[in-house]
Amino acid sequence: MIDGPLVLVVEDDPNIADLVDLYLRKNDFRTIRAVDGATGLAAVRDRRPDLVLLDIGLPGDLDGFDVCQQLRASSEVPVIFMTARDDEVDRVMGLKLGADDYVSKPFSPRELVARVEAVLRRSSADKPDGPRRHEVGDLVVDEMAHEASVGGQSVELTRREYDLLLALVEHRGLTLSRRQLLDLAWGTDWIGDERTVDVHVRQLRAKFDHHLDLRTVRGTGYRMA
Ligand code: CA
Repeated sequence: MIDGPLVLVVEDDPNIADLVDLYLRKNDFRTIRAVDGATGLAAVRDRRPDLVLLDIGLPGDLDGFDVCQQLRASSEVPVIFMTARDDEVDRVMGLKLGADDYVSKPFSPRELVARVEAVLRRSSADKPDGPRRHEVGDLVVDEMAHEASVGGQSVELTRREYDLLLALVEHRGLTLSRRQLLDLAWGTDWIGDERTVDVHVRQLRAKFDHHLDLRTVRGTGYRMA
């Protein structure tokens, strides 16, 4: 499940974001989240998602329209608007912002996933999309080679260690709970003790030492710097 397309969900309503997240991940997408426009733009720049799901009514200075406009100045990433009102639909249609599609709230999760898949199919015809290579300091995670290395030296990892490391690297800067890490690296169907995460984190720390800038967030989980 870790190899699916990466979708950025820009949505300030945590209930909607949770639902979208859940369904996308159920369908083998990977997700990252942003709660406002500025964070969303930064996430597109830093993480290069394959698609952006963009709420229109966002807190802060930038609404969804602004975000789309700024995105289009520098990125071809497909955008699907999530609209809450008819007048927003009219503006999406009218402004020719370069959005690829829109869904109206309330939408069914199935409809949303179908739209996402359709837009990705269309856009992947345009650009070849290879697996990523993540660099964090001198630590490199290469999805193509399925390998992690430090200063060019490959580090031997078990499959779980690799999946966990990739989940952390992909969500760097964000605090992830043990449950989220289990979902990301072990899969949502996996049932087991959350301390499994701690065990694997210990193993990663032992293998990477100071090359792994991984903080324990007390009472919550972990964050990759
Ligand atoms: Ca909103």
